[in-house]
Amino acid sequence: MEGKVEVRCRSCHNRFSTPRLVELVECPNCHQKWKLKWFDDTTATVLAPESWVEFQKKMKEIKK
Ligand SMILES: [Zn+2]
Repeated sequence: MEGKVEVRCRSCHNRFSTPRLVELVECPNCHQKWKLKWFDDTTATVLAPESWVEFQKKMKEIKK
């Protein structure tokens, strides 16, 4: 293990790796920032966008 953990972006479904135990990551594909939840030091999942307001704004723009 390299000390990196893979997570999947909930916005664009891109998989990317993140250093262990960071609480905020940015998707390299769509640049959405995500808060992570860590189950242990090798298992993480995307919990929520950094800002719901900005996330919803972005989603609205895509739908237009
Ligand atoms: Zn993304």
